[in-house]
Amino acid sequence: MQNKIDIKDLSYDELEGYVIGNMLPKFRAGQIFEWIYRDVASFKEMTNLPKALIESLEKDFYIGRVKIEAMQHSKTDNTRKYLLGLKDGNSLECVLMDYSYGKTICISTQVGCRMYCEFCASATGGLIRSMTSGEMLEEVMAVSRDIGERIANIVLMGTGEPFDNYDQVIKFIKVINHSKGLNIGQRHITISTSGIVPRIYNFADEKLQCTLAISLHAADNGIRSRIMPINRKYSIEKLIEACEYYIKVTNKRVTFEYALIKDINDGAKDAHKLGTLLKGMLCHVNLIPLNKVEGKEYEKASKNSIDSFKGILEGYGVETTIRRRLGSEIDAACGQLRQKYKTH
Ligand code: SAH
Repeated sequence: MQNKIDIKDLSYDELEGYVIGNMLPKFRAGQIFEWIYRDVASFKEMTNLPKALIESLEKDFYIGRVKIEAMQHSKTDNTRKYLLGLKDGNSLECVLMDYSYGKTICISTQVGCRMYCEFCASATGGLIRSMTSGEMLEEVMAVSRDIGERIANIVLMGTGEPFDNYDQVIKFIKVINHSKGLNIGQRHITISTSGIVPRIYNFADEKLQCTLAISLHAADNGIRSRIMPINRKYSIEKLIEACEYYIKVTNKRVTFEYALIKDINDGAKDAHKLGTLLKGMLCHVNLIPLNKVEGKEYEKASKNSIDSFKGILEGYGVETTIRRRLGSEIDAACGQLRQKYKTH
């Protein structure tokens, strides 16, 4: 068991390489790939493979599965929050939301996080480790298995910074998008970053059709550096420059996330600064009422200030929506469930 690899960690090309290395025709890789993403639990179930191939798969790999350790279900909006156990004993969270346009899963990309955003529960405890692409796939598969339904959309907005785990995240997107795999369209995948600027350039050059969301939360460097330490390394100017490159290369609209925090970034002055910054850009602003995190002093902005913030932005021609809050009564936000259960 020790030296075996989780077969879900393999890209299609890697699996093909394995098959060719075993002197077998390439099409066997396609068959294996299809079985994995049809969610078989053992290699024996891959009934169209020769026995010798099944045996060598058993020798070299295992089929990784995560364990559902806890689940909270909100009856009001049908949101489910899962605590999943990894094989090394670590736990992570993901949330399933029931939107009119399909079931949407919010997955974690790391166990913990090292971005240390002030208002976020995931920051507590720092980074434990990054997840593998196979583990991210299993978040989607385990939840789909549990509800007995296909998942339509994926957002990489759970715990962790996707661009701090860049290679595995890109591999995950390519595998989940593969026609012989789960075949989830890139347009149904959103990736959210706190603003690791060099990776935004890399991501633009990948020319994927995923939506890129940027956690902006302030248009002023002083405020942003205070609530998001990453801004001390990559300023708002550098971040916007990278977004402009992304838009130019992909011709895709960028989403800016902005969590409104009472008396920190929710004033008219803040809205005007944001409007001035984003005016004329191919973008969209998603205003998020802050989710109160226990032990943090930050409070959510009032409904009035959120509405007037939106009005000011629209005055600059910036398309703005207010995110509907799902699952707020089941800790379905930003590392809160893991925080409640975890021991480390
Ligand atoms: N590290 C990535 C993705 C994970 S966080 C990123 O920063 O984008 C997903 C989103 O939730 C980010 O926009 C993040 O800033 C936001 N968020 C974190 N804590 C929050 C809170 N308490 N209330 C509202 N949004 C929060």
